Amino acid sequence: MKHIKHLYDSCNLCPHECGVNRNQGELGICRATNQQHIASICIHRGEEPVISGKKGICNIFFSRCNLRCIYCQNHQISSYVSPIEKITTTDEIIKQITNILDTGIRILGFVSPSHMVVQTIEIIEELRKRGYHPITVWNSNAYDKAETLKLLEPYIDVFLPDFKYADETIALIYSNAPYYPDIALKAIKEMYYQKGNSLIINETDGIVESGLIIRHLVLPYHVENSIQVLKLIANEISNRIAISLMSQYYPPEGLMLPHKLQRKITPSEYEKVVNTLHELGFDKGWIQEYESNEFYRPDFKKSHPFE
Ligand code: SF4
Repeated sequence: MKHIKHLYDSCNLCPHECGVNRNQGELGICRATNQQHIASICIHRGEEPVISGKKGICNIFFSRCNLRCIYCQNHQISSYVSPIEKITTTDEIIKQITNILDTGIRILGFVSPSHMVVQTIEIIEELRKRGYHPITVWNSNAYDKAETLKLLEPYIDVFLPDFKYADETIALIYSNAPYYPDIALKAIKEMYYQKGNSLIINETDGIVESGLIIRHLVLPYHVENSIQVLKLIANEISNRIAISLMSQYYPPEGLMLPHKLQRKITPSEYEKVVNTLHELGFDKGWIQEYESNEFYRPDFKKSHPFE
């Protein structure tokens, strides 16, 4: 681990390039130090079938975040002020992960990890030292740097980025993410370079062992943004990539949201995006059922956020 800890001496690991010394406790936009910041390690069954399988995935939910999405569905843990944080020592983290892996689950997800690169590598190296080699999933908001993703190449099996915006203005207003479309596209090109079009699926349990799946969450009133995201992927990378289209947006309670984010998406908004997906020739992936926005309501105050 000594080989990469120095990267926090002047943190430029994500596109914000704050340059702060996280090893000395200085805070950048993500407000994470060099310590572990984890809200939950739990089994999650609500993901794409090749990710969850029958048993579920062991997900590590990092707290804090390098984006500031005003509608964050996980705002309890990403919050700028006092995010929920329960597990902070590497020993405890490894114990909790291995307890879950010992039940037969063989896939490990890092959720919103873009600001926790060094800690992610530390966890994977610790697991490998102890003889655990789970399939690893980088489940990010795509606001990643290509150079940082190169560092992750020996560690990550499956990239699962959420490509949020093709519209620079809403990326700035909703997520404080300057140049998001260009940055996300460049990041996903690097993921594609590493993994290509093919999903390697294990025939026995149906779990993905290597590949790239791009998620996109449709936002109310922003159908055009979703259409442009799909066009960017098809035109700039490939329409052979697996897409996971998500309808589960809901306005989280307790957040001050602008008018356009105060409702769920409508069936007709979703239909327009689904139609575009087909028109562009995407034929791999998953289209979440429209009703899913009734089911995704994690509560990270509970010991199991999804039960
Ligand atoms: S990871 Fe955090 S400190 Fe580092 S550049 Fe990104 S926002 Fe700044």
